[in-house]
Amino acid sequence: MAGQKKLRSTSVLCIGAGGLGSPIAMYLAAAGIGKIGIVDFDTVDYSNLQRQILHTDADVGRPKAESAKETINALNPHVEVIIHNTRISSENAFDLIRPYDIVVDGTDNFSTRYLTNDACVLLKKPNVYGSIFRFEGQASVFAPELGGPCYRCLYPEPPPPGMVPSCAEGGVLGVLPGIIGCIQATEIIKLALGKGDSLVGRLLLFNALEMKFRELKLRRDPQCPVCGEHPTITELIDYEMFCGITAEPETSAMNPDEVTVQDMKRALDDPKSGIKVIDVREPDEYEIAHVEGAQLLPLGQLQARFTELDPNQQYYLHCHHGGRSMRALQFLRQQGFKYLKNVKGGISAWSDEIDHSVPKY
Ligand SMILES: [Zn+2]
Repeated sequence: MAGQKKLRSTSVLCIGAGGLGSPIAMYLAAAGIGKIGIVDFDTVDYSNLQRQILHTDADVGRPKAESAKETINALNPHVEVIIHNTRISSENAFDLIRPYDIVVDGTDNFSTRYLTNDACVLLKKPNVYGSIFRFEGQASVFAPELGGPCYRCLYPEPPPPGMVPSCAEGGVLGVLPGIIGCIQATEIIKLALGKGDSLVGRLLLFNALEMKFRELKLRRDPQCPVCGEHPTITELIDYEMFCGITAEPETSAMNPDEVTVQDMKRALDDPKSGIKVIDVREPDEYEIAHVEGAQLLPLGQLQARFTELDPNQQYYLHCHHGGRSMRALQFLRQQGFKYLKNVKGGISAWSDEIDHSVPKY
């Protein structure tokens, strides 16, 4: 009874209602955590359902935060669920995090991860960390206030942008966030109860293909810019810039290197346009869905095969969402190609705006 009361009086902010956020929120609700905040600005897509078990087929198109609240309250109507249908940013992070006891990181990008880390360190809130990629995952509890390191002690610098593909781009085994998310939920319950040995100071690594767990000892870095002895980060910074992201917001003007899927349709419909369309995705993605008339040349093979292309030819490059084709464009430009455009939104936008019969994945 004493433990259950502690859970009831605990509040947890779950950043992201996706693959990790799903098992975390559901097990916390089932355990009787009193208040769960959900921060997510995204809407449910069919491609999410393989892992984001908070959401069902009928929720496709709805805001994830709303769908999450419904599922949580269907499971346990006594949980107070606060929806934050917004993107966490340097402007709102303190206000979002301050009212909660524990923060759990269910994000899928580096800028949000560093932002969450720094905000938690500065507000002295434990940050229950998890991340997943393909067949591997990791988890820890970052809490300098409890004597452990923070995320920056472990990873002082983000990887160069585009080096690490997102789950949507690189793929992830659907049950993997279930396993890592349940580990995060376990750590939250232990923190709330003040019981057991937490993952503070330890990084747990999991490989699903080998079915092996490993553990690394983590030490606090005295030189850490946010939790070290002489911190240089004392307020929240511009995390997109820190992570090297220069993507402009949706509403701004088109990037001069980009064309729309409508432009790509015109190019494909009119052979006299002289434009060739190249698909830089992988062959297994091409098998799922492709645009008739586009030539397949996977990004990974571009370095070896770009000589098959004509540097004076006009090319439109497309991929799944537009990230990889932009990298292909930058690579080809370095090789002296003059007339290149990236198709904004890739085959996903093509499916949405041009041809609904092209499956989304
Ligand atoms: Zn640190």
